[in-house]
Amino acid sequence: MRRTAFFSKEICFWHDPGPCGPFDKPGGFIQPLAAAEHPETKRRIRNLLDVSGLLDRLLQPASQAARREDLLHFHTPRYLDWLEAQSAQGHGNAGECAPFRQDAYAIACHSTGLAIDALRAVLKGEADNAYALCRPPGHHAERDRGRGFCLLGNIPVAIGTARAEGLMRRVAVVDWDVHHGNGTEQAFYADAEALTISLHHGHNYPVDSGDSSDRGEAAGHGYNLNIPLPPGCGGGVYREAFSRLVLPALERFQPEVIVVACGFDASAMDPLGPMILTSRDYAWMTEQLRQTAERLCGGRLVMVHEGGYSEGYVPFCAQAVIETLSGIVTEVCDPLADDISRWDGQALQPHQQALIESLEPLLDDIHAG
Ligand SMILES: [Zn+2]
Repeated sequence: MRRTAFFSKEICFWHDPGPCGPFDKPGGFIQPLAAAEHPETKRRIRNLLDVSGLLDRLLQPASQAARREDLLHFHTPRYLDWLEAQSAQGHGNAGECAPFRQDAYAIACHSTGLAIDALRAVLKGEADNAYALCRPPGHHAERDRGRGFCLLGNIPVAIGTARAEGLMRRVAVVDWDVHHGNGTEQAFYADAEALTISLHHGHNYPVDSGDSSDRGEAAGHGYNLNIPLPPGCGGGVYREAFSRLVLPALERFQPEVIVVACGFDASAMDPLGPMILTSRDYAWMTEQLRQTAERLCGGRLVMVHEGGYSEGYVPFCAQAVIETLSGIVTEVCDPLADDISRWDGQALQPHQQALIESLEPLLDDIHAG
């Protein structure tokens, strides 16, 4: 059994984006739906951890809100000033598809603080690994604007803060959210000490980023690995991508810690992604990264929550990930995994295999420091 720390904060469930999806704006032709990014998917994770008894067996350290000096490791002063002022006025849109209402800036600082404290706890050896239940999410937020429900770059800020505190330099970020991790890519595009890997549905969101030809620049060339996937990918594709690309890239790079941008919107039940993963696939990917971290960097592995929009299914995926992190098995049983695993298309198909093989030469430019 491992010491797994779980970071969450009630106030993060109070963030109100207002209408932020394609079907939730009044004045269209269809009765507005609830906002796509809403608290229930995250609150219900905590609920399931609680009911299953797992929560009581995790470390639950306190967390502080991110400070302005932390945020400046990634964001511009202009953007932070604007977001704080606009948030005080009660509503705004931080850029593209990133609307917010009252107190959004303060709540986003708490969300980023969860990621900072999770990374810090693992790097200081206070926990073996950690899960930060961040909300609002962060991987689409850019230096000077919010995007895709994200206001602040939780992962880039956490990494910048840990580096400033002298806790580490070399970090690998694996982003398995079904959407491209454009903000993390931007943060470390010229950085040879940060390997950023994103597995995503090609041109889903953002529609204009995530190509495999975007590989980093200057000293960082080769250290940004985009793996854009076709729709309909199941466990077979993700296993192949991990075995041939993600895990070998990590072995070549030799990080001091692995951070996961942990979205659950590649699940079969997600309304914003076309993939067909189950909670067992998330457990498998977690175990691969856990063993790799064990081999490469003393087991240091930090999950930072991103997307995932199925109220019913996201909690089972998170439960599976956190059981795998901790080594604690509960009686929770995924009610859908058996059926979904038998769906057509779960096994690796020739066109998917060809795509993954075509990306293997991209690993040649990744080296240990
Ligand atoms: Zn997403």
